[in-house]
Amino acid sequence: MTRRVEIIEVSPRDGIQNERTLLSTAQKVDLIRRAIDAGIGRLEVASFVNPKRVPQMADAEAVMAALPRDGRARYIGLALNRRGYDRAVAAGVDEVNFVVVASETFNQRNQGAAIDATMGQFAEIAEGAAADGVSLGLTIGASFGCPFEGEVPVGRVVDLAARAAALGASEIALADTIGVAAPTDITERVAAVKSAIGGRPLRIHLHNTRNTGIANAYAAVEAGVERIDSSIGGVGGCPFAPAATGNIPTEDLVYMLDRMGVATGVDAAKLIDTATWLEQQLGITAPGMLHKAGLFPPDAKAA
Ligand code: ZN
Repeated sequence: MTRRVEIIEVSPRDGIQNERTLLSTAQKVDLIRRAIDAGIGRLEVASFVNPKRVPQMADAEAVMAALPRDGRARYIGLALNRRGYDRAVAAGVDEVNFVVVASETFNQRNQGAAIDATMGQFAEIAEGAAADGVSLGLTIGASFGCPFEGEVPVGRVVDLAARAAALGASEIALADTIGVAAPTDITERVAAVKSAIGGRPLRIHLHNTRNTGIANAYAAVEAGVERIDSSIGGVGGCPFAPAATGNIPTEDLVYMLDRMGVATGVDAAKLIDTATWLEQQLGITAPGMLHKAGLFPPDAKAA
């Protein structure tokens, strides 16, 4: 049986939100169209947060309004609170990715609230999400470590995941927001969380801050995770996490999975073109490696 992993493209949100160069709405829509054309079927397209705090996301509604609605892809909007959720629903997203951070200090800085208050908002929102016509997932930020508090106890992550599952979250994501995890951490925390969420889908979100990102993705796949976030070119960061760097590069991840015989339905060659294009739009050299090294064998096509 062919193993399969779904890639969730997060460059339009996490990828570009920490970049100095502000992209126009048209450039963002172009990026999303290119990702869909490469075979991506699910994307985080915007973050519905205070534009004063994240200027790159100020046109979230305009991006949503300009996206193709031909059923080829599902669009996820990120929300940190009720107001963000309401904006995302009004903008017509298919899914809302609500965020709580597994560290009081970081949650306070990121959402301006205590963890319990954020989870209380999630509980209220979860009651109405089906009626609002959206799927509602929960991402647990700093699941592997916090820039302010250091180590994050596995029990706290498991507790938040179990609460989210009990509240009906459509998906639970563990985020290594500041890129501190090693593959053994992934193996341990994925197993612990899986046993607490009763078969609900588990997604993983990795940053390559300490160069462990692709190894962590491998560990996640081996631990049975079937949904992985990544960002074309490996661009990205977090405005509220000091020194956080990019997400794992989508094209590098697809290359590895292709060679492992894990199906993604995504065309690495098209992603390479888009990584190069995105570098030009942002005026940077993206940290990803495949778009510099090329495919192997050189005429390789998507699996
Ligand atoms: Zn992130």
